[in-house]
Amino acid sequence: MANLLIIDDDKEIRTMLGSLFEDNGHDVTLAEDGEKGLKTLDVNLPDLVITDIIMPEKEGLETIREIKRNYPGIKIIVISGGGNLDVKSYFKIAHTFGADASLAKPFMPSELIILVDELLQS
Ligand SMILES: [Mg+2]
Repeated sequence: MANLLIIDDDKEIRTMLGSLFEDNGHDVTLAEDGEKGLKTLDVNLPDLVITDIIMPEKEGLETIREIKRNYPGIKIIVISGGGNLDVKSYFKIAHTFGADASLAKPFMPSELIILVDELLQS
């Protein structure tokens, strides 16, 4: 069991991933953008963060950089369907900022579960 923070401005994806990982026995915190996600770190430090990239207030790339700067031990998985740039370009930047893994939307829930398990064991 681990402590997960899931950041995505898409409510459907957010709640779907929340139930998915709660059903897998994890403690899950949900946030709708990077700003709100970062605020939760002060009170509840996660083992792993799953974050979207394109979000209002604070997008995912900046969020990844801030999390890794302050808490380098937290694992980060970035999920995105792309935006102004294609998804590969976003993921390249995300990995530069310290993301540990990336997964393009849409994905199968099982793909994300496998990634999470791998990172938690590494
Ligand atoms: Mg988004």
